Amino acid sequence: MNRRDFLKILGLFALSPKKIFAKKSKTKEAVVIGAGIIGCSIAYELSKRGVAVTLIDKSVPGSGCSGSSFSWINATYPKKPYSYNLFSQLGISAFHLVQRELSLDIKWNGSLEWASKIRDQQALIESVNELQNYPKYTATSIIGYKKAKKLEPYINFKGNENIVFSKEDGAIDPKDAISKMINAIKKNGGKVLYPCKFEKVIESNDLFSKVKTSMGILKSEKIIFCNGVDVDKSLNINFLKEPRPGVIIKTKPKKNLINSIVYGPNIHAHQQSNGQLIIGEQIAAPTEQDSLNHLKRINKHFKNMVRGASDLNPSEVLIGWRPIPKDDLPVIGRFKNKSIYVAVMHSGISLAAIVGNLVTQEIVDEVDSLLLNDFRPSRFF
Ligand SMILES: Cc1cc2nc3c(=O)[nH]c(=O)nc-3n(C[C@H](O)[C@H](O)[C@H](O)COP(=O)(O)OP(=O)(O)OC[C@H]3O[C@@H](n4cnc5c(N)ncnc54)[C@H](O)[C@@H]3O)c2cc1C
Repeated sequence: MNRRDFLKILGLFALSPKKIFAKKSKTKEAVVIGAGIIGCSIAYELSKRGVAVTLIDKSVPGSGCSGSSFSWINATYPKKPYSYNLFSQLGISAFHLVQRELSLDIKWNGSLEWASKIRDQQALIESVNELQNYPKYTATSIIGYKKAKKLEPYINFKGNENIVFSKEDGAIDPKDAISKMINAIKKNGGKVLYPCKFEKVIESNDLFSKVKTSMGILKSEKIIFCNGVDVDKSLNINFLKEPRPGVIIKTKPKKNLINSIVYGPNIHAHQQSNGQLIIGEQIAAPTEQDSLNHLKRINKHFKNMVRGASDLNPSEVLIGWRPIPKDDLPVIGRFKNKSIYVAVMHSGISLAAIVGNLVTQEIVDEVDSLLLNDFRPSRFF
């Protein structure tokens, strides 16, 4: 999707009657709880629009799920129904804009996905056919191993003739993105406080909310909850499934082995521009911090997939906990009254830029974005 189409779609979907009659924004201040990729993106976009933002985190920015993510930006076949897929496609376009603004480290070399078992491979192709029936979808084609080898000379595709190539996908360094967004928020006059833990809502109505934090009481016209797996506890709600863990290995910088995102049997991997390999696993991870065993297992799969690979030399072996809403779709919108807003989702890396953009549009311009209609918190109560 080019920049012009992207901006046209955003404008069209924001033309709710409220916008037509909207006066100048009344929202002058906001507190954002949680400095993961979602909270940082929202706080960054708000600060660009002149809102006085205070972003808080109970720990260090990026220390939650975002710092242990595989960090693949995509709108591929698992993103369904269509409203969610389109939202993810806009997510890719929105990241191109933010990348230009903040010089983010994102490699847009696409992704390659294949399976070893015939049954899995058939299911993959069927899913791609389904995707290609949508009115709009990211460029996806099936290529053979000879073509795939030109893109990835070191990957052993084992003669597979049905590799899914999604050429618009990207891989981001989320910690780099979070740190650049935080610098920009501060430059735009915002405050970033940590460690500062949200403890409870003291008072809340349509005009303002007052919350207790470990650094004292904060009062604001808008309080935006972006605290991932902790959101249920914070608001005393039940939006999320039990968080699902995943192991991520980050290596020390290596010579260039992988150009795109490779999603093969057992593991998936990409290589950042600093040479660090980022490797994840398809299976649900054991919850124990048994780094040595995780490394042993993933090392074996990696050497099987990458020709001539030496043993992985990890800099980190992480377990990330995914915030997954009960119906797998994002939860974004006002919560009960106008001063409390929630934004929590899986695939939050793919969606961070578009979420920052649309949430800011809703808060600053006082519109309801139709693009968010299917993702409202109200579906749970
Ligand atoms: C192994 C793994 C692989 C993944 N791969 C991908 C992928 O390839 N692509 C993709 O799009 N998504 C992927 N995801 C999902 C994605 O990483 C998450 O959806 C995303 O990081 C969520 O971001 P967030 O900002 O909502 O939450 P988080 O990054 O968890 O941030 C929440 C922040 O809130 C803070 N916080 C919590 N409670 C409080 C409180 N009381 N007061 C103050 N602060 C608080 C935390 O300290 C944390 O920093 C993956 C996840 C995992 C675990």
